[in-house]
Amino acid sequence: MLEYDIMKENNNLGKLFVVSGPSGAGKGTICKRIIEEIKEPKVELSISMATREPREGEIDGVHYFFTSKENFEEMIKAGGFLEYAKVYGNYYGTPKEKVVEKLSQGVDVILEIDIQGALNVKKAYEQAVLIFVVPPSMEVLRGRLEGRGTDSIETINMRLAETLKELTYMDQYDYVVVNDDLEEAVKGAKCIFQAEHLKSTDQINNIVKAYKEEN
Ligand code: 5GP
Repeated sequence: MLEYDIMKENNNLGKLFVVSGPSGAGKGTICKRIIEEIKEPKVELSISMATREPREGEIDGVHYFFTSKENFEEMIKAGGFLEYAKVYGNYYGTPKEKVVEKLSQGVDVILEIDIQGALNVKKAYEQAVLIFVVPPSMEVLRGRLEGRGTDSIETINMRLAETLKELTYMDQYDYVVVNDDLEEAVKGAKCIFQAEHLKSTDQINNIVKAYKEEN
């Protein structure tokens, strides 16, 4: 899916990070902090396309690119998505072009997407780094969801049941960040980004090239 020539030949590709986790785990906050705090290499968040109605305060082109079902289906046919999924009856997808462009410029990209989408990305592009964000306990998660005051008790119970199912996919992720203390969770997530950039497979070409140029 991402097998463009430019991707194969470029040694200085950005890395693709995929972040998922139950609603209320704090993945959005962690991603925001990563983007603000990691300066080199630059990290950007991919903006998904969605067919659901915008919620109050959501801005088109900032939170999502909101579009119609017809337009979304046209884009599926045209191969415009890196991945897409139907979540709670609406389509959500990652527009491919922008992600490929950023990665080929050496910019890291974060996809904040659901589990189906994450696993599809990994299938198509095994270099993708999958990070699962979890709350420290179901009790804490319940407290957070209740504290938001946006969901009914039924919805909260449904989300908690959904979370238990989601946890069974954790072993297909490369890393798990437990978000108990936010600062610790952000620190852990930043370490993942750093470790991924220190991989020998990524550094070898650049180091050998630099050493050869010295001689
Ligand atoms: P919400 O409607 O609450 O913004 O998002 C619902 C779910 O859709 C969340 O789990 C979110 O991570 C997921 N999601 C958002 N964008 C994408 C996307 O581009 N692809 C996939 N597969 N899931 C997405």
